Amino acid sequence: MVLDYAPRFSCAIENDRMAQSSQNSKRQILGVISLNRAEQILTEWVNTDLKGVLQTNVWERLFRRCPEIVPIPLSEIVPVNDVNFDRFHQQMEMAETVAADLAMAWDRTDLRGFEWYTWKAQREYEFQAASARHGVTSSHLARRPGDDVDVEAIKAAIIESEEPPATITRIEAAIFHLRQNRKRALHCPNPDCPAPYFFASKKGQKYCSPECAKPAQRESKRRWWAEHRAKKVPKTRISDRRSK
Ligand SMILES: [Zn+2]
Repeated sequence: MVLDYAPRFSCAIENDRMAQSSQNSKRQILGVISLNRAEQILTEWVNTDLKGVLQTNVWERLFRRCPEIVPIPLSEIVPVNDVNFDRFHQQMEMAETVAADLAMAWDRTDLRGFEWYTWKAQREYEFQAASARHGVTSSHLARRPGDDVDVEAIKAAIIESEEPPATITRIEAAIFHLRQNRKRALHCPNPDCPAPYFFASKKGQKYCSPECAKPAQRESKRRWWAEHRAKKVPKTRISDRRSK
């Protein structure tokens, strides 16, 4: 869902907003994913918080909530266990790298830097997706005891990820959408924001939500009153003198 904190001025505006939201859920990016779903996946992904939680649980939760991220059937890696851990681990590392690249892209104010990191995210995703499809995991590359190095599969994964995928993936489309909407991809300035990366839904929007805007609004009111009072003081003194 696109976060929206515009005040509800009237039913007409609210109806417009709902119509827009319903249009966004119908509009398909590159014909494979709705605009709303693409933004939901990207923001959940980039806002993944690893602080103080077991990383495996965090990524497993993301994969369950956004199965589009996993390039192989979700049931092959979730729930994670001893047998599928190698394949799960590969996708976990992919998800972590892509999340970091998306955050870098989101925070870059220059087009060059933004483009660089969105492409880096896409490249990482496509390579790991091709690797997963060919059954190549990091342990196959690292020559762990008991793991055969399947050179042919590795070659196939490299060759496959050199070209645009035969079928457009929903993640490719989502990152494509991010590239087209750079100006709406903002970082909420509230330092306590729990999910600071968001897509603005209104012109001039700075904060991700009304809750995040509140501390700044209070501070601006406080400053206004402080200045207003300061201006009033000399006037009162003059009028006091006049009345004497
Ligand atoms: Zn916020």
